Amino acid sequence: MLTFSKTLEVKSSKRTQSVDITSEIQKIISESGIKDGIITIFIPHTTCGVFINENWDPTVQEDIHSFLSENIPQNGGYAHTEGNADAHIKTAIIGNSVTIPITDGKIPWGTWQGIFLAEFDGPRRRKVIIKIIGLK
Ligand code: ZN
Repeated sequence: MLTFSKTLEVKSSKRTQSVDITSEIQKIISESGIKDGIITIFIPHTTCGVFINENWDPTVQEDIHSFLSENIPQNGGYAHTEGNADAHIKTAIIGNSVTIPITDGKIPWGTWQGIFLAEFDGPRRRKVIIKIIGLK
């Protein structure tokens, strides 16, 4: 059993945004040499998450962010008065990690799937911690 670790740095450019990290993740899997196993992608932040969804039609990401912002407005009279309570709530809903299988050195994606860093309080530099466990 082998393990491989890497930290990616991702720069967001807007307050709320989906950043497609699919190709970076695939590069890291290839670099690891692991052909059969699992990859865990963890975001060590409280106002930024990670999720899998469609990366073909960009309006899907637009809809996800506008739905979240309509239902979790930035100025919602929250107890946390740092100005980013909405970002904490969105992150709690979206989640901070995903674990995905690796088969033949690749993620067995569905046709339209990709993986996104979900920025909710940007623009910022974010860390993405990756751990792969498996066999060559
Ligand atoms: Zn805060």
